[in-house]
Amino acid sequence: MEIIREAGQMQRWAETARLAGEKIACVPTMGYLHEGHLSLMREGRRRASRLVVSVFVNPTQFGPSEDLNSYPRDFDRDCALMEAIPVDTVFAPQPADLYPPGFQTWVEAAEITRGLCGAYRPGHFRAVATVVAKLFNIIKPHVALFGEKDYQQLRTIEQMVRDLNFDVEIVAMPIVREADGLAMSSRNAYLSPEQRASALAISRALRAAGQKLAQGVRRAQELREAARVVLDAAGELNVQYLEVVDAQTLEPIGLIEAPVLVAIAAWAGRTRLIDNCVLVPPPAPTP
Ligand code: AMP
Repeated sequence: MEIIREAGQMQRWAETARLAGEKIACVPTMGYLHEGHLSLMREGRRRASRLVVSVFVNPTQFGPSEDLNSYPRDFDRDCALMEAIPVDTVFAPQPADLYPPGFQTWVEAAEITRGLCGAYRPGHFRAVATVVAKLFNIIKPHVALFGEKDYQQLRTIEQMVRDLNFDVEIVAMPIVREADGLAMSSRNAYLSPEQRASALAISRALRAAGQKLAQGVRRAQELREAARVVLDAAGELNVQYLEVVDAQTLEPIGLIEAPVLVAIAAWAGRTRLIDNCVLVPPPAPTP
């Protein structure tokens, strides 16, 4: 497994691979890998002849009061996990290489980034779209894989690819969970045992919303209420948002007639956790 730290060298690697007829899959990550990341890599391995994983804690996507400095990092452990996939090439640049002095060009998807996390993390998705655009120009992938865990991020990237004609296929991968339902996240490492127990209410709340829909309820407000009851019963959990939105546009909806996203962001102590599920209403019975 080759480790490349410089953007120009990564571009030359990608160009050589393309000229040799290879198909390149790319999985962008911030490292501290878990089974969620590895599931994306295995699918990338299956879909292409060359697999590149980027490990880069992108400083621009963290707000001034967010956890950039404490974000968990363990590059040696990450490399051992990637070696086992096996990953062909790891791209692990330095921030100064991707953001040299004078950097001033940003990619911004508009409507799709307004609500949900975008409402609480100003500039976050602009930074995400920009770094992913840069990674696409550096790694030159044919296919790139993203997790539905970060659903608004996935939709933002899909929007960017469509709007800016990136010649990259975006593959969405399902959320990988712990056995008890907690969505895997690098940030779970921050949780105390008590906070982790409280955090379980998030996935339970999503299931409660899903059960409402299965019972025939179509008012988004009722799904939200069912989820809220579960969240309120959890100990150390501060809900930032709990929303039911159109799964495609991410706009709030009243009546569920098409696939919806139920999305939750909550604080367990100082750790911000997000989770979601897509619910598809069964077709209305024909009279
Ligand atoms: P991150 O390192 O958190 O930036 O995540 C890198 C990629 O892994 C993103 O596309 C995430 O959506 C995806 N990812 C993170 N957690 C999970 C998970 N539990 N299941 C599936 N994909 C995930």
